[in-house]
Amino acid sequence: MDQSVKWVIEKKIERTIEALKKNNMEGYFVKDEKELLDKLSSLLQKGETISVGGSVTLFETGIIDLLRSGQYNFLDRYEKGLTEENIKEIYRKSFFANTYLTGTNAITENGELYNVDGTGNRVAAMIYGPDQVIVVVGFNKIVKNLNEAIERNKQIAAPINAKRLKKKTPCASTGVCIDCTSPERICNEYTLIKRQRIQGRIKVFIVDKELGY
Ligand code: SF4
Repeated sequence: MDQSVKWVIEKKIERTIEALKKNNMEGYFVKDEKELLDKLSSLLQKGETISVGGSVTLFETGIIDLLRSGQYNFLDRYEKGLTEENIKEIYRKSFFANTYLTGTNAITENGELYNVDGTGNRVAAMIYGPDQVIVVVGFNKIVKNLNEAIERNKQIAAPINAKRLKKKTPCASTGVCIDCTSPERICNEYTLIKRQRIQGRIKVFIVDKELGY
């Protein structure tokens, strides 16, 4: 990457980490997946109960493989053969997990986490329940403010996710959000985590690469 471009991105990451701190959240910058997994391993206790929110980033970074290593009590929502009832049970048990790992749709330079969800189980656990929430993002998820976060979701994240999940929504065929009324609409709960009451409960790892959508 061009050094000047890299410098601008690093400055943006620095501002975001500073802002997270002011909002009682911790922010960490890691250069690659190896550093990320090393840091995560030091934050996770052997045998603790861990759950995850739906996230492409967790697969891309090798976190799902780490959680499946047998060192943790991983509530694996992606395990083959699970019924809808099994998945519902995992979503509910997630509130009692020690750690919840997830991505986020956008993170603002004001230190806020913005998400749009289909069922809301992910944001519900981010907001309340697990003792520790670890959010993993690539620098591509950083936006200036809430308006940019909303636009990013409408223009990029939601249409790509609808396509990936093979939903029968207008955006999955045109790539454009029309604020549909489709029964398979994936945009239902719009949430902004602005601040945490418990200092450090939410930890955000920003990886020095593009990850997820
Ligand atoms: S509201 Fe509908 S059209 Fe817009 S991104 Fe969500 S699913 Fe797609």
